[in-house]
Amino acid sequence: MQKPGSLAEYVHLHPEGFRVAYEPVALPHLPRLKCPHQEITSVRVSDTMTAPKVSPRGCIGKPLASGWCAEHQVAQELLEIGAKLRYPEIFMGKTGARGIFCGLIHWERYAEVTSAKFLKEDVNVLRIRFDL
Ligand SMILES: [Zn+2]
Repeated sequence: MQKPGSLAEYVHLHPEGFRVAYEPVALPHLPRLKCPHQEITSVRVSDTMTAPKVSPRGCIGKPLASGWCAEHQVAQELLEIGAKLRYPEIFMGKTGARGIFCGLIHWERYAEVTSAKFLKEDVNVLRIRFDL
């Protein structure tokens, strides 16, 4: 019996045209008037606990053709990589502490709330990991 292929093998065995290109699902469709990136900060709720809070202002960057501003354009790159991999569950970061659950909705949410710095790191890691 043949061993099931790894995700990296799958990506290389299937040409670009085999995959469905990224199209926004939960994020607003194009063209956008506003970059959908959301800033998440930690709010202290007690002496020992913090809670995540979405900045109500949102990103003020002007959206480019992709629908993201120049700073958050890397979110689009992440989603395009996600489309190539078919949105698997994946872990990144130095200790694998940052992760995305399986499915396009989770990939979009991750792209929407993760800082540009971490998104750049993640895109580099995924390009190397899957030879993209
Ligand atoms: Zn932005």
